[in-house]
Amino acid sequence: MKQAIFPGSFNPFTTGHENIVRRGLTFFDKIIIAIGKNSAKNDFSLQERKAKIEEIFKDENRVEVALYQGLTIDFAKEKNVKFLLRGVRNLDDFKYELEMADCNKLLAGVETVLLFAESDKREISSTLVRELQAFGKDISDYIPQKK
Ligand code: ADP
Repeated sequence: MKQAIFPGSFNPFTTGHENIVRRGLTFFDKIIIAIGKNSAKNDFSLQERKAKIEEIFKDENRVEVALYQGLTIDFAKEKNVKFLLRGVRNLDDFKYELEMADCNKLLAGVETVLLFAESDKREISSTLVRELQAFGKDISDYIPQKK
């Protein structure tokens, strides 16, 4: 079974993140969405983030949601998973992902699979959603809606 970990802060989980997971499921059998606990940006509580993501994928038994602390490669080892799934929106993301992928490959032999953001999702970020929310704006276009 081909499994991947999709690690991130997901603060909050956006339609951009959802898009990466759904596309990842076309070639991975199972995806573990792993919410890193080491984030400093703590606006949305970890339990709230986890519960919301579980709700989004409640009909998809190939998705698991987990919280983790420390290095992603240690969590991958614990879960016996060899692939990380990540998304790339622009050159800044690419540069960051390249550095991370190199480290993770070097330190643990873990491969990173990158998907380019869908063109209509390229501008969506958790930071944007947090800012819109702070100013009382509508965020429903950027947050996966209950079906
Ligand atoms: P991190 O704090 O680890 O960067 P994020 O929650 O911000 O975590 O993002 C997790 C992953 O999702 C990253 O690989 C990021 O580039 C990707 N991502 C974020 N937003 C989008 C989007 N709109 N489209 C595609 N990928 C995205």
